[in-house]
Amino acid sequence: MLQHVLQAFRRLPGHRLLATMPKNVDLTERRDARSAKTKKLKSYLFNCGEGTQRLSHERKTRLARLENVFVTCNSWRNVGGVLGALLTLNDIGVPALTLHGPPGLSSLYDDTRSFIQLRGMNVQHRSDTDSDFVDVGLKVRAVPLYGEGVLPVTPEVYRAELAADETFVARLDEYRRARSTLPPSDDVYPQTVFLGTGSSIPNKKRNTSGILVNLSEKHSILLDCGEGTHGQLVRLQGSEGAAETLRRLSAIYISHLHADHHIGLISILEARRRALGADHKPCLLMAPAPITNYLNMYHSKMAPLRDTFTLVHNAALLTSRSPPPDWITRRLTEAGLAQMTTCLVRHCPLAYGMRLAHTEGQEVVYSGDTRPCDELVELGRGCDLLIHEATHEDELQEEAVLRAHSTVSEAIEVGVRMGARHVLLTHFSQRYASLPMLPEPAPNNVGIAYDNMVINHGHLPRVPLLYPALRRAFAESYDQCVERTAKRRDRKLREAEVLAEAERTA
Ligand SMILES: [Zn+2]
Repeated sequence: MLQHVLQAFRRLPGHRLLATMPKNVDLTERRDARSAKTKKLKSYLFNCGEGTQRLSHERKTRLARLENVFVTCNSWRNVGGVLGALLTLNDIGVPALTLHGPPGLSSLYDDTRSFIQLRGMNVQHRSDTDSDFVDVGLKVRAVPLYGEGVLPVTPEVYRAELAADETFVARLDEYRRARSTLPPSDDVYPQTVFLGTGSSIPNKKRNTSGILVNLSEKHSILLDCGEGTHGQLVRLQGSEGAAETLRRLSAIYISHLHADHHIGLISILEARRRALGADHKPCLLMAPAPITNYLNMYHSKMAPLRDTFTLVHNAALLTSRSPPPDWITRRLTEAGLAQMTTCLVRHCPLAYGMRLAHTEGQEVVYSGDTRPCDELVELGRGCDLLIHEATHEDELQEEAVLRAHSTVSEAIEVGVRMGARHVLLTHFSQRYASLPMLPEPAPNNVGIAYDNMVINHGHLPRVPLLYPALRRAFAESYDQCVERTAKRRDRKLREAEVLAEAERTA
C-alpha cells in the first residue's frame, strides 16, 4: 500500500504536495489468521483527471477505502474526473469523501451537484491552505507554487534581518562608496542572467547550470539548461516575463551531456513554442552530437519536438576545423551572434568550451565543466567576460582532479592566463551553496555568481566589490567553511606525519 501510494505520487507532473508516511505504519490487514492475503484499510488519491473512474475499473484499483482526494491545481487536467469518481464511489457505498485542494475547488462540486445524484454520501471540501492534513497513514503539506513548479521567493524577511546587522550595513555602505568611484556605464548588453549556479544536484539555494545571455533587445542565448531552468526563469521574471524572454531566445548552447547541464532543454523548447504561438520558428541548438539520439527518442516515443530546434553539432564550430558551412553562419547571424567558436575541454568525452561574439563586439567565453585547459585559454584570449566553473574550494584539489573539475583558484588562474577583463565564477559544489570562498586578497576582476543574479555588461566591475558584504551576509556558513578547511588541513598534516614516521622506522 505504501509503495503504491508513493509510486503514484512520483508519477504525477508538477509536484505541489509533500506527502510523508509515518514509519512502521501498515495500512493493510490480513483477511484471516491463516491467509497471507491482505486487504486495504485506506487509500488516497492525488489528482483526479478525466478518465480516473474508468481507469480504476480497468486496473482493478478498488476505491472502496478512498476517503481523501488531494488536488494540486484547479485545472481540468487535475479535476476532470472528480464528478465521475464521486458517482463510482457512491455506487460502491463510500459514505464520505473529503476533497482537499486550492480554494475554489468546492465550487466544482457545489455548482455541478445537479449533474450527479448522490445517495447518502457526504462530500466535503477542505482548503489546502487551512493546515496540514494528518491521519494515521499520511501527512500531506501543500506548498504553493508559481507558474510551472516554481516556489515563491520572499526576500523581505531576510532583508529585514540584514538591515538590523550593523556590520553588514557598514559593508554595504563601503560597497556603495567603492561603486561610486567606478566610471559610469549604461552598457546593458551582453547582459548575463544566472538561472542556475550549482553543480550536479540542485538544492534550495542553487539550481543546476543555466545561464541566459541577453545579446540585445532582440536576441538571447541560453548557455546550458539544467533541470528546472524554465522554472527558474518563471521565478525570476514571472510567467509573462519568462514568455517574453523565450520569444527572444534565438539560440541554446549545451556544453556537454551531463544531466545537470541539459535535462531542462525539452521543457524550455516546448515552453518557447507555446510562447511564440503562430510565430514559432525552430531555435538554433548547439550541442554535442549524441544529443540527437535523446531528442529523437523523445520525439518518437513521447511528444513532437523536432519542429522546435535546428541542431548544429558543437564539433562543427571547433576552431581547429575549417569555417562552418554557410547555412550555419547564416543561422548564427540570425540569432544575433557575430561569431561562435568552440574547443574541446578536459572533463568528459565531447565536453566543450565556447566563445561567442556579440554583434556589437563584446566577447563572452564559457568553460562548461573542465579542469584548467590550455585550449580554453587560447580560445578565450583577451575576452571581455569569462564565465568559468569553480566546483571545488582550493583545499579539495585532489577531488577536483578526480572529478575533472576546477578549484576556485584554478579558475581564477585561467582568467589571468587568458587576459579576460572580467571573470564570473559559477557551478559551485552544493557544499558552498551560500558562499564559495575566494582566495585572500580576492582579485578585483573576479565575482561570484548567484541564482537570479542579473548583470549588465557595464556593471561587471561592480560584482567583485560585493564580496565583503556577501561574506558578512553569510558569515555563519563562511565561518563553517573556514573551520572545515582548517580541520581537513590538520588531518592531512597528521596523516603525512604518521606516514613519514612509518617510513623512518621501516
Ligand atoms: Zn559535467
